[in-house]
Amino acid sequence: MKKYGSKLTAVVLVLFLTAAVLFTTQTVAYAAEENVSAAETVSQEAVEISDAQGMLAIADAPEGNYRLTADIDMSTLDWTPVAFSGTLDGAGHTLYNLHVTKTGNDTRITKDGNLKVYETKFVGLFSVAEKANIHDLNVVGAEISAESDTNCFAAILTGYTDDSRFSNCKVQGRVHLINHCINAGVAGIAGYGWGVFDECSADVELVFEDRYRDAHCEEFMGGVLSCGMATIRNCNVTIEGYDSCHGYVHNGGVVGMYFHCGVRYPERDVLGNRVKGQITFFEDNWDRRAYCSWIIGERLSGCHIYTDNGGKFKRNETFNYKVVLLPETCEEPHYTETVTPPDCTNWGYTEHVCDGCGYHWTDTYTPPHHDFGEWEDTGRVSETGGKIQQRICKACQATEETEVFVIMKPTEPRKEFPLGMAVAIGGAGFLVLAAAVTGTVLFLRKKRK
Ligand SMILES: [Zn+2]
Ligand SMILES: [Zn+2]
Repeated sequence: MKKYGSKLTAVVLVLFLTAAVLFTTQTVAYAAEENVSAAETVSQEAVEISDAQGMLAIADAPEGNYRLTADIDMSTLDWTPVAFSGTLDGAGHTLYNLHVTKTGNDTRITKDGNLKVYETKFVGLFSVAEKANIHDLNVVGAEISAESDTNCFAAILTGYTDDSRFSNCKVQGRVHLINHCINAGVAGIAGYGWGVFDECSADVELVFEDRYRDAHCEEFMGGVLSCGMATIRNCNVTIEGYDSCHGYVHNGGVVGMYFHCGVRYPERDVLGNRVKGQITFFEDNWDRRAYCSWIIGERLSGCHIYTDNGGKFKRNETFNYKVVLLPETCEEPHYTETVTPPDCTNWGYTEHVCDGCGYHWTDTYTPPHHDFGEWEDTGRVSETGGKIQQRICKACQATEETEVFVIMKPTEPRKEFPLGMAVAIGGAGFLVLAAAVTGTVLFLRKKRK
């Protein structure tokens, strides 16, 4: 009889263990499936960036998908230009006071009009943008200045573009490059390469200062792109250019040199663009060409469509090659600074005006903000049960609402058992039950005997 009892206990135990294993395996498999689908969802959603530290994180995952949720003061960062191949949705927000004084770490090959190759470095918010998509982004008060002993292209958004798209982006600032090499350029939005620029605007001061007098450099300057091939549609450029070049000048209000770069790039329409401003330059060279024109400086490759471009542009050539052309012409300038505070809709900034020559620029931008009063109850309650409070701008009467929840008395938090523990507890309970059943069977058998 004892033998029979042990057999029954063993059968019950085997049944229980099988059930437990099946239950555990199924739950784990289900959890794993859930995790995979959650990860996929995350990869499609944009990482939100709300401060300067968030911008720094782009360098760790340059292929990522990002969206700005606030205007960001970039002056707190010692910015190193980043290679980028993801999506950046500015969502209409502004990066302000971006200061860049060094080239990025990445190099790419650039070419001159004879397809001679140069290893090149880049300066900008991004050094390199490859298959990147940058849209609805504003940059104000950018100061891009670099002195490079390698070939170098500098611009506010990116030094180099490979099949990248820029739409509804606005840049404002100054770009200044001191050249010690051969292939080099300055631009408002992108330095060198190919891409698409739609509905963008650039309000820029561009300065190229050539200190390599022993060789003839290839210099490029453009309000949107300094050298390359692109579709550029409905862009607005305000340009103030200064170019001292002891080599070959390629300057345009929109593109310095329109050129295939050795790439078969299919998108090449230049239409609906507006330019306002001037480029002051000299070309110190025995073999002068001095390309400088309002839309495209030198057109080495054709556009598919070239129409409806306009504006007011001055080609301002000088011939004193000893005087470096700079926006500031005083030997000992003295500036008067005026701070304009922000208001409800306009940015604040500091304007610097030279008392001698009148040269002026703006920097230290501050975002628009309302002058709100105190929060007050509205007497309304939200759908989720919060009290709705409101505050009103003293200047423009704009209102802002917030939801306030009454803090309830804290309750004991619900305890959640991990799966392993639940199985262990369930198993122990089952064992007790099995033991009881076995005991009863044995007891009945004994009794019957
Ligand atoms: Zn001055
Ligand atoms: Zn206001």
